[in-house]
Amino acid sequence: MREALSWVQEAGVLQVPVDLPVGNAEGATEGHGSGAAGEEAPAVFGGVPQADGEVPSRLCSEEDEEAEEAGEAMIGVVIEITRRCNMACPHCVRGEKQAFDMPDAVIDVVGRRLGEIEISTFTITGGEPFLKLDRLNRLCDSLEANGVTFEDLWIATNGVYLKPDRIKVIERLLAMATNQLGPAVEISNDQYHVGHLPAPFNDPELARALYPWVGYRGEMKSVIGEGRGEALTEGTRSVEIADDYIYITAKGDISLSCDLSFEHLDQCAVSTIFDRDAFLAIVRAVDVMADVADYGIDPEDDDAMSMEAALELRCEQIAALLNAGVRLNDSDSSWFFNNCDVDGLLI
Ligand code: SF4
Repeated sequence: MREALSWVQEAGVLQVPVDLPVGNAEGATEGHGSGAAGEEAPAVFGGVPQADGEVPSRLCSEEDEEAEEAGEAMIGVVIEITRRCNMACPHCVRGEKQAFDMPDAVIDVVGRRLGEIEISTFTITGGEPFLKLDRLNRLCDSLEANGVTFEDLWIATNGVYLKPDRIKVIERLLAMATNQLGPAVEISNDQYHVGHLPAPFNDPELARALYPWVGYRGEMKSVIGEGRGEALTEGTRSVEIADDYIYITAKGDISLSCDLSFEHLDQCAVSTIFDRDAFLAIVRAVDVMADVADYGIDPEDDDAMSMEAALELRCEQIAALLNAGVRLNDSDSSWFFNNCDVDGLLI
């Protein structure tokens, strides 16, 4: 247990050998559908684009600290609203698109579950999120009905469907954001995306003047070696495990990484949104991981039982990913081999 804690006490950086034959470049970028992006080699951190090694201020805001002091769990949430896409980018982390959208039953439960927790960054991903207007409006209905709020919103899009009806959805979602600090919608105008943006989004300067919530990705330096990106031989990085967000698939499954293909998301779920007790336990466990990583809280003074549950959850997720052949980054796989047995239990 003491050794296991070194992972979180070092804010996600391990003090272990990194000579295992997995992974490669760190802190890279990937396909827009992954829920993490940025212009300058961003890493995944609660679905928020960030420069390498930089903890985004929005994750350490006064609201976060107040929530922690009040003992409330606060984590990021990524929602995969659809697996459809109008493009087939050569680097896409999700792999082949699927003719599947988040059903009403999942959306309705998502709203109820999220109404019970505190959310830092709320990310909507896909596929192409703006392809399915009816799904987005249903999601807004569900969130509003359950009084869901979040600190800030982030949606990555190829931008092709950014028409007035989609802008209304963005405005509905922004009304739920209590502390929006950066762009809420990022258009993937990188070298991999080929599509015609509608006016005014084809003119970034004009678009930003009209819609302060829009941002543009620009050139991508590298991609995740997962999904269709697995076939790319250069400039790829390996999959990372989250320590401060959960990913909810269109099917209602819960994962601890937004770096995965649809296939691996299906194979490696740690639970489902339909199990309320499991959902709340995962939220608490992820929050404990984030507490230690972000605030340096001593887990022995915080909640030792939750800490143990958090580490077990991490073991379970990594074991599933390794079994599925996912190319995990060196830090996560080394931590697993040092602290867990082959069944994914803490040693
Ligand atoms: S636009 Fe579609 S194919 Fe391209 S990266 Fe995004 S989800 Fe993948």
